[in-house]
Amino acid sequence: MSKRHPIIAGNWKMNKIVREAQDYAIKLLGRIGNVTDVDVVVCAPFTALSTLKDELEESIIHIGAQDLFWVASGAFTGEISAEMLVDIACTYVIIGHSERREILKETDEDIAKKIKAALKAGLTPILCVGENLAQREEGRALAIVRGQVQKDLADLPSEDLKRVVIAYEPLWAIGTGKTSSSQDAQDMCEAIRTTLAGIAGTVADEVNILYGGSVKADNIAELMVQPDIDGALVGGASLDADGFAQLIENA
Ligand code: PEP
Repeated sequence: MSKRHPIIAGNWKMNKIVREAQDYAIKLLGRIGNVTDVDVVVCAPFTALSTLKDELEESIIHIGAQDLFWVASGAFTGEISAEMLVDIACTYVIIGHSERREILKETDEDIAKKIKAALKAGLTPILCVGENLAQREEGRALAIVRGQVQKDLADLPSEDLKRVVIAYEPLWAIGTGKTSSSQDAQDMCEAIRTTLAGIAGTVADEVNILYGGSVKADNIAELMVQPDIDGALVGGASLDADGFAQLIENA
């Protein structure tokens, strides 16, 4: 029997100033404050996190960041550590989002260090993996995604591996309005679970695997019924509190 509990995580990306974050938190909590069948996470820019702490710390909505640096403290100007995120009530952190891989040139080695730092501090990392359009068209999607999973989670003991959440996010579906078909998304999430089983055996059954890429209120239900899809990472459709609440209700 699966021990997995579904997760719907919103990724605001680089959006919302403090006042907007506060209004959003109050509105979302008012709409979904009693939802218990799904874990809800809001991943906000660093500047909005302490506002979310004030509004959501004691609530059922989990607070997440969108990145961290792998060292605890020191001479790393501009960086934020896992310990700093824990200090402002974060329990989740997105690691290796494709925008960071592509635009900020994050490598799998960087990402592996960030995953370890998150776990060490007690955060739940949401590791993003996914292929771009050219890689898909060349028939290399599976190899790319499998390679990312293997490199980003290298050397993790099974007790740590089962605390990682993986988000399969094909780049061609992010912010484009094009969603992977629910069957294609299921096939890749199943392949990710098989890859995890190769690394850590039956622990793979305990890992939450999310789909991300133009998920909306009207397509979440068909994704959620797939056996290896345990939730979603939602960008654009998480920016409006009422819209995100509706998506969560439909999940
Ligand atoms: C994302 O930012 O992780 C994402 C999936 O974005 P969108 O839902 O807008 O495609």
